[in-house]
Amino acid sequence: MKTVDHFNFENKKALIRVDFNVPLDENLNVTDTTRIEAAKPTILKILEDGGAAILMSHLGRPKAQEDEFSMKHICAKVSEIIGVEVTYVEDSVGPKAIDAAAQLEMGKILLLENLRYHKEETAGDLAFAKSLSTLGDIYVNDAFGTAHRAHASTTIVAQFFPENKCFGKLLSKEIESLDRVLNNSEKPVLAILGGAKVSSKITVIENILDKVDQMIIGGGMAYTFIKAQGGKVGGSICEDDKMQLALDILKAAEEKNVSIHLPVDVLAADDFSETANTQVVDITNIPDGWQGLDAGPASKSVFDAVVERSKTILWNGPLGVFEMAPFAGATIALGESIAAATKNGAFSLVGGGDSVAAVKQFGFDTQVSYVSTGGGAMLEMLEGKTLPGIAAILE
Ligand code: AMP
Repeated sequence: MKTVDHFNFENKKALIRVDFNVPLDENLNVTDTTRIEAAKPTILKILEDGGAAILMSHLGRPKAQEDEFSMKHICAKVSEIIGVEVTYVEDSVGPKAIDAAAQLEMGKILLLENLRYHKEETAGDLAFAKSLSTLGDIYVNDAFGTAHRAHASTTIVAQFFPENKCFGKLLSKEIESLDRVLNNSEKPVLAILGGAKVSSKITVIENILDKVDQMIIGGGMAYTFIKAQGGKVGGSICEDDKMQLALDILKAAEEKNVSIHLPVDVLAADDFSETANTQVVDITNIPDGWQGLDAGPASKSVFDAVVERSKTILWNGPLGVFEMAPFAGATIALGESIAAATKNGAFSLVGGGDSVAAVKQFGFDTQVSYVSTGGGAMLEMLEGKTLPGIAAILE
């Protein structure tokens, strides 16, 4: 796997696909700088070698060239975080971009305008990719969040750098961490899958059954499994059309010797609301008019024991509706268990937008081994797919 560490960037202009798709508030200030900070090691390596960095990214989903999606709004923040002056240019291709790239001095940074101002970006247009390619000498992909998209800047552009393309430090770390969970893992391996629906994670479950020894299925997904086995789930979220599939998954797990742990009790509520009345009930016997919104205390103990004996832990999806404080308990407890296991030597990887939000909100992000930056990209890797952005560098 070729990374930036295999190249000397002295007197070279690196064309770097970063993921600066950061959230902005109504005054267009960056509200979460995680993604900019994540790209810093790659950019610094290039500058310290004596090279220059040309940064390209998308920001939001512009339909045309709306000002609110302009990269100019994040330029100062990038400069502040990297600690180097950043020049912004108001296009990503064409005369202005070519000129700005040509004038870029070594040790300096150029930030191109939002790639998605051109529809050719998401279309994976070859000519657009070729235009981008003329701006730099070496192509670096450091954007895991878009590695599952065959866009011009994430995939197509790589073919114009047959010898001079590589992964940035962030993307290579993502690949290594997932590999450490899926292919080079220390046993016992545990996958914890939560979140709202079984349907969004079926392929993941099926694929990782071959990779893990144990699996915790929690969150809203659990009720489909419970009802499929004859339990009463009351008004809990449940996909009736996925019940047969749930039974098939349980059977496949048994055949593959994977132990599946579902919650045994739940914190049920009489309304999907923070102020609802609540009670702890057996998960197989939730009264009508009540819905399970979090795992209960007995489940927490079961999950804690499973986590404690695992050497490799993958976590995707919350165990309850953690956005509402009364139903965040099991997700917090799980974070605590994973943090303790990590302290005792387990390798833990957390990924997926909601789980990452949860570990950050509750302060566990520094207590797990790795927090993945890509939601969709991570799920596709867990599904066993080869991501186009990764394949394009390896080819
Ligand atoms: P996902 O995007 O599939 O990972 O789902 C994350 C969402 O699942 C979060 O917004 C949670 O609030 C939600 N969720 C977790 N547990 C439940 C539950 N028991 N009932 C309804 N929604 C849930």
